[in-house]
Amino acid sequence: MLTDTHIHLDLSEYAADLPQVLARSRAVGVTRWLVPAIGSSYWSGLPLLHQQYPQLYYALGLHPWFLAQETESVLAELEAHIQQRPAGLVAIGECGLDGAVDVPMTLQITYLEKQLALASQYQLPVILHCRKAYNELLQTVKRFDLPRGGVWHAFSGSRQQAEQFIALGFMLGIGGVITYERAEKTRKALTKLPVESFLLETDGPTMPLSGRQGARNEPAYLPEILQVLADLRNVSPEELNQQIELNAEKMFRF
Ligand SMILES: [Zn+2]
Repeated sequence: MLTDTHIHLDLSEYAADLPQVLARSRAVGVTRWLVPAIGSSYWSGLPLLHQQYPQLYYALGLHPWFLAQETESVLAELEAHIQQRPAGLVAIGECGLDGAVDVPMTLQITYLEKQLALASQYQLPVILHCRKAYNELLQTVKRFDLPRGGVWHAFSGSRQQAEQFIALGFMLGIGGVITYERAEKTRKALTKLPVESFLLETDGPTMPLSGRQGARNEPAYLPEILQVLADLRNVSPEELNQQIELNAEKMFRF
């Protein structure tokens, strides 16, 4: 059994054929999914998806790309949702910082801080998006006491950067990026980092695996990521996945 710990199954790209997407996923052993919300308009739909598919869990949060679409009351709204502890909620996210988009960094940090405060207060792990803002992200996260830690999703950093987050109770969401040979730094880091910090994710519908560019990404491709990681570590995929599933249970308490 494998868990896709970051897959946007609530987006319109999957609306037409979600049952088939999940069936293809199950057929290759990927039987559990974690769907992180990207904005407030998705928060009410996710509990319904969990009702329909009990192995589909979710996180509630605000992705830095879409903050301009939100209004100030949204943070109180987020807390109201979390307070109710709805069934299937296992984390806060997807939140974080992105230095490559046209959203003011001060605004991104404000929203991130509030979400980290909620993760701390309600003792939930946090799912972090990080692009071209590594230092700001690390400094912001360090200001909070996060009892459940979280995930550095779509990990594509160096060994040293990973170790700094692992020291704060974080795990690494490992996805399609490692299927590209040019991702040398990340692939090398993953040969040395502790397997106890590894989680698997596709991040569909985007982040295609090598050889699958241009097509929609799907949870059914997760075993290909596991295989690449197993090759990098020189172990069998089965053995490696046993540890990774323990990690996922420990992080998210499904
Ligand atoms: Zn994502």
